[in-house]
Amino acid sequence: REGYEHFDPRAYLRNNYLPPRADFSSEEFVVPWKLRCLAETFASGEIRGRTLIDVGSGPTIYQLLSACDHFEEIVATDYLAVNREELGRWARGEPGAFDWSPFIQHVCKIEGRGEPWQDKERRLRERLRRILPIDVHRPEPLGAPLRPPADALLSAFCLEAVSPDRAAFVRALAHVGNLLRPGGHALLLGALGESFYLAGPARLPVVPLEESDVREALAAAGFALRELRSYAMPPALRTGVDDVDGVFFAHAQK
Ligand code: SAH
Repeated sequence: REGYEHFDPRAYLRNNYLPPRADFSSEEFVVPWKLRCLAETFASGEIRGRTLIDVGSGPTIYQLLSACDHFEEIVATDYLAVNREELGRWARGEPGAFDWSPFIQHVCKIEGRGEPWQDKERRLRERLRRILPIDVHRPEPLGAPLRPPADALLSAFCLEAVSPDRAAFVRALAHVGNLLRPGGHALLLGALGESFYLAGPARLPVVPLEESDVREALAAAGFALRELRSYAMPPALRTGVDDVDGVFFAHAQK
């Protein structure tokens, strides 16, 4: 928890969501890989409903771009007020907000429906109605049950980045699972083999995971795995902002 007191949202965005990691000129870079996993999974049309909750949204919205077409409401959450404020600035279209337009344009391109990117931007802003505080270490992460429970749950680079060990990761996964209805879909993106990352003055410890840890944790937390993919971080993207080896994408059902 202490590390997160020094978390700088703008530094985190610069480290992960500007070039070289957010380079849309090739699908080999990590950000296009993440966006493709989500776009392909939502393209099936199977994952839809009233509410999707995103756990540990941080200052980012890229993870919601394909999701937002399939839900009436998107609930974003984060532990830190500075991150919730950063998200609010983008949702209200205020000056000084991070520029997500290259991400939105890229997602419209890979979804291939010829949708103008401004339409997707508007839709996400309309549907992103709640930005709530959360703590995944509590059995009731929002402080009260979500009523009705979410139809789908998304979480990107949060649970392993706030858990001291694998047992805590499993517990956090079970806690956030309480927000989801039985049968609901869970999509997780996360770091493989990472022990720390930087966000300005903050150096955050991460529990290093292997693919097998992700499988075991999902099973232990009551999820049935549908799909697991992974990405190896190319040398050019090992920039010193973390020691990540790769990224996993898991699709599971409660
Ligand atoms: N989802 C974003 C941000 C991930 S960074 C992305 O894909 O890039 C990890 C996030 O976990 C940070 O935003 C941090 O504020 C949040 N976090 C820290 N402690 C937490 C806790 N106890 N419960 C939930 N989220 C927490």
